[in-house]
Amino acid sequence: MSVTLDLSRVAPAVDAPKPPINLSGLTRPQMVAALTESGVVEHGKAKMRATQIFRWVHHRGVTDFAQMSDVAKETRARLADHFTIARPEVVERQVSKDGTRKWLIRMAPGVEVETVYIPSVGRAGALCVSSQVGCTLNCSFCHTGTQALVRNLTAAEIVAQVQIAKDDLGEWPSDKEDRLLSNIVFMGMGEPLYNLGQVADAIEIISDNEGITISRRRITVSTSGVVPQLQALGDKTQAMLAISLHATNDALRDVLVPLNKKYPLDQLMAGIRAYPGLSNARRVTFEYVMLKGVNDSPDEARALVKLIKGIPAKVNLIPFNPWPGTDYQCSDWAAIEAFAAILNRAGYSSPIRTPRGRDILAACGQLKSESEKVRASAMRKLSMAAMAGVLDDDEDEAAA
Ligand code: SAH
Ligand code: SF4
Repeated sequence: MSVTLDLSRVAPAVDAPKPPINLSGLTRPQMVAALTESGVVEHGKAKMRATQIFRWVHHRGVTDFAQMSDVAKETRARLADHFTIARPEVVERQVSKDGTRKWLIRMAPGVEVETVYIPSVGRAGALCVSSQVGCTLNCSFCHTGTQALVRNLTAAEIVAQVQIAKDDLGEWPSDKEDRLLSNIVFMGMGEPLYNLGQVADAIEIISDNEGITISRRRITVSTSGVVPQLQALGDKTQAMLAISLHATNDALRDVLVPLNKKYPLDQLMAGIRAYPGLSNARRVTFEYVMLKGVNDSPDEARALVKLIKGIPAKVNLIPFNPWPGTDYQCSDWAAIEAFAAILNRAGYSSPIRTPRGRDILAACGQLKSESEKVRASAMRKLSMAAMAGVLDDDEDEAAA
C-alpha cells in the first residue's frame, strides 16, 4: 500500500530570521560571491569591492562598516543590512607576568573557547587557536577528550580569535613593523582535521596578503593523526604539520590516542611521509607527551628514532599537564632530559619547554560557572610547552 502526502497543505514553518553573514569568515573569492548574491554590489565591481572591504576588515581591523571611509555611505548602509563584521564577545582576559595573554571568547551562548598568545616563540610570538569546542576523540591523557563535542567552529570564529588577539596587542594595521603576533598554531581545543573546510578557509584568510598576512609556513596544524585528511590538509593549506604521536607502538598508542585503532602507526607514518611539501626546510613536528612510566624510557626514545628515520622532523617533548581525575603523571625531569639526549644524539632537535603563563592558568578557576566545562578542558588542552616547542626553530626555517 502506498500513501501519498499532500505537502502543499502543510503550513510553512515560520522562518527564524537568519543571522547576518560575518564577512570576516569569507575568503576573498567567497566575499566576491556573497556581495554579488546579496545584490549589494553589481557584478562587475564585486572583485574590486571585495578586496577593498577585505582590506578594511583584515588589514585595518575595523568592526563597523561606518568606518570604511572610501565606500559610499549608501553602500555602507546596504552592507550593514546584509552582513556583519562584528567581533564575538571577550568574556575574560588575563595577562601573565611573563607576558602570556589569554582570552575566553563567547562565540554564541554556551559556545566558549580560549585563545592564548605566547610571546617570544616562533619569530616573535604565537597564537594558539581552537578549531572545535570539545572533541570527538578520547585521548586518555587529554581533558578535552573527556568533553563531548559541542560543535565545530566556523571560519569566522577561528579568524575572530586572531582578530581579538590583534585588537589586544595593538596590531592594526596588519603591516605594522615589529609585529608581536608572527605565528599561529592550531593546538587549542578540538581536532582540526575533523573541521578541515573551515580551518582551511580560516588559513586562507589569515595568510592573504591583502589582510593579516601571516605566511602559511608560520601556521602549524596539529593533528592526532586523521590519516585520510593529511593530503587534503597539505594541498588546501600548505600549513606546517604537527603530529601528536605520543607512542612508538600500536598497543600503547591505541590506549593513549584511540584513533590509532582506526589509523595505526604504519598508515600514519606513510601518510606523513607523503605530506605535500615536506623537506628539511619544512619539517614535520612530532609531539610526544611525557608520561611517567608509560612512554618515557630510553628504549622508547630509541624506538622513536627508528620510527621516524628518514622523515624531515623535529620532536617536541611535552611535559604532561595533569588534571583532576587523571591517573597519569608527568615524567621526572631527569627522564625527560635522558629521552631528549637520545633524540639529540640521533640528530633530532627535541626542545623541552617549561610551560608559560602558569599564573593566569591557575587563576582560571575564578571564571564564570556557565563556561566552566569548556574552560576547564581548554585550560589543560592549551599546552604552552607544546606550542613553544613546535615553533622552536622557526628562525632557521625562515632562513632556509
Ligand atoms: N587535537 C589536536 C590538536 C590539539 S591538542 C591534536 O591532538 O593534535 C595539542 C597538543 O596538546 C597535542 O599534542 C596533545 O596531545 C597535547 N595535550 C593534550 N592534553 C595534554 C596534557 N594534559 N598535557 C600535555 N599535552 C597535552
Ligand atoms: Fe582531541 Fe587532540 Fe585532545 Fe586527542 S589530544 S582528545 S585529538 S584535542
